[in-house]
Amino acid sequence: MNAPKPWLPEAAAQTSLGRVRGSNEDAFGYRADHGFFIVCDGMGGAAGGEVASRMTVQAVLERMCTGAAATDGRETLHAAIADANRAVLERADRDPGLYGMGTTLVSLLLRPGSALIAHAGDSRCYLWRSGKLERKTHDHSLVDEQMRLGTMTREEAERSPFRSVITRAIGTQQTINEEVQEMKTEPGDVFLLCSDGLTREVDEEEMARVLGVGDDLQAAAKRLVEAANEAGGRDNVTCVLVRVPVDTSV
Ligand code: CA
Repeated sequence: MNAPKPWLPEAAAQTSLGRVRGSNEDAFGYRADHGFFIVCDGMGGAAGGEVASRMTVQAVLERMCTGAAATDGRETLHAAIADANRAVLERADRDPGLYGMGTTLVSLLLRPGSALIAHAGDSRCYLWRSGKLERKTHDHSLVDEQMRLGTMTREEAERSPFRSVITRAIGTQQTINEEVQEMKTEPGDVFLLCSDGLTREVDEEEMARVLGVGDDLQAAAKRLVEAANEAGGRDNVTCVLVRVPVDTSV
């Protein structure tokens, strides 16, 4: 008799400078064996965006590989994000060259049968299930909030000079209120975590087309980033794709 396979999500990631920017302020990281995946998109300061996103990915990822995360993932993640926020603020305080730096965050914590999505800012999480793409996060941005209030149309939002204004991010306020949602997963679900460099260049129909091509996650991640660059590549582009395994523990 074969031993049951360990529960292990499959993941692939791709990042690109894009075609305009001089540096990549996006950062990502994951540990599939701990079921944790994260994308951050840095902003502000001279070199600050890059520092803020990398610091945050590293600190949160490290914390999510501890025994505490295995016991209480939700609480550990909340503490890790709060600590990363404090660390980014302190670092910016000490180094005037980094003043004003911050970063968005979107993360996925997978456990057999469930997913915990946390985010702050306009990096997004999508779910690809049964041939359909569903956006799981709404942006913490000025235009997205106005659209949800009904005071701005999608067309107005796309033309707005304020479309880059983020209303929640790591390193911009003394306390960070990340948004957290828990959902049930199904075997074969694919989650996409991405920065706005993807979503501003590639519409959801095109993203769904790419994800519908086949099961090769690495090829899909590469194709999504290529599509953003072909559409202009005006920003750094990052995507992480994660597939929920068949649950062998039940
Ligand atoms: Ca960006």
